[in-house]
Amino acid sequence: MSCCDQPGLQPVEQALETLLSSAQAITDTEMVPVEQALGRVLAADQQSTVDVPPADNSAMDGFAFNSADIQKTGKTTLPLSQRIPAGVAPQALQPGTAARIFTGAEVPIGADTVVMQENCQWDDGSDNDSSGDKSHVTLPAEPKAGDNIRPQGQDIQSGSRIMCRGHRIKPQDMGLLASVGIAEVPVYRRLKVAVLSTGDELVEPGEQLPPGHIYNSNRYTLAGQMKALGFDYIDLGIVPDNFEATEQALRQAADKADCIVTSGGVSVGEEDHVKACVEKLGSLDLWKLAIKPGKPLAFGHVLGKPILGLPGNPAAVFVTCAIVARPFLLKCQGVDDLKPIPIQVIADFDRPKPAKRQEYLRAKLVLDDNGVAHAEIAGNQSSGVLSTASVGNGFAIHPLGGTIKMGEPVQFLLFSDLLF
Ligand code: AMP
Ligand code: MG
Repeated sequence: MSCCDQPGLQPVEQALETLLSSAQAITDTEMVPVEQALGRVLAADQQSTVDVPPADNSAMDGFAFNSADIQKTGKTTLPLSQRIPAGVAPQALQPGTAARIFTGAEVPIGADTVVMQENCQWDDGSDNDSSGDKSHVTLPAEPKAGDNIRPQGQDIQSGSRIMCRGHRIKPQDMGLLASVGIAEVPVYRRLKVAVLSTGDELVEPGEQLPPGHIYNSNRYTLAGQMKALGFDYIDLGIVPDNFEATEQALRQAADKADCIVTSGGVSVGEEDHVKACVEKLGSLDLWKLAIKPGKPLAFGHVLGKPILGLPGNPAAVFVTCAIVARPFLLKCQGVDDLKPIPIQVIADFDRPKPAKRQEYLRAKLVLDDNGVAHAEIAGNQSSGVLSTASVGNGFAIHPLGGTIKMGEPVQFLLFSDLLF
């Protein structure tokens, strides 16, 4: 990939590599109950000390028997010798008999096959008769040996690793941990991320909007993004456009948080103080990223804490946070899986000009009548337009140097993959 059209602009992938190579994962850990582990990041591999299931069990309500008994005698009617509901430890199967068995119940030693009850005829009165006296079952003519048994260890074998360090715990992982008897897990403590919005023009929602002002939206977009990613969000509010206030806010942020995220004030205008302040308190590189929206992006350190200076425009904040800040912060949180995998869908739009910056188009995934997924542009793509991020459900990627043709494949990143 080349960005020869605009020398000096860094391709997104390249910038991400640099950024990620400088990310230091936190090391503090804590134990949490599995029930509260959703979204947390495992600080150690998890191994099972049990087989799941712990013994062969029945996949059906039916009858358990030994297939050799039928093969030997040719008789398919067997006396019933025991009744095994789930939760009961069975006795070894008496040779030449069958056992009434229910879904999930342990298959008795000596039985190798279960036939579902719908395929059997049996002495109804015996069903509640645990002695099994006089009761019997007639099995189908040629039952398949081994059928309907879920073997011991089919899901997990004792001693096997079920999850790795760096894994972010999803609902099904909570169930899996519980299935091997793990009640609590070591996780990294939540990454503390301080967020501040710069700008003299900003007013909080709920307040009167004086002339020349706008409502602060970045604070809320970022709060949502930080919370969706599971971080400990530290809200430092609005910082006015002056050097002293910016320095004070940055000192406070560095004191309280592991990482700092700011919005606005990273251009090179007279009212943009973030860069100068960070340079006083540490170091800052202003990056010109080949990304649209969001070209100006700052990265550096304040009193030893990493700082990501996002642009001010609301859509640019959403994009750069999702594409650039997210993987960096997740790596600092100890996560190993940092890159969402784009899906390929059909473009319902044309972008005939080669992109000079990789463009993350707010787009909407829709299904056509044949069930094929298409990406539609969500509307205005200006960096100040946030409504299209709300209408859309993902980014269609217009790759650096490439074009997009209506009806041809385009890469699509779902917001749901970027907000987790
Ligand atoms: P800046 O990078 O500070 O020059 O900001 C670029 C543009 O984004 C300006 O139009 C700002 O008014 C706007 N902007 C900056 N911060 C915010 C914010 N927190 N909420 C909404 N718009 C913002
Ligand atoms: Mg500003």
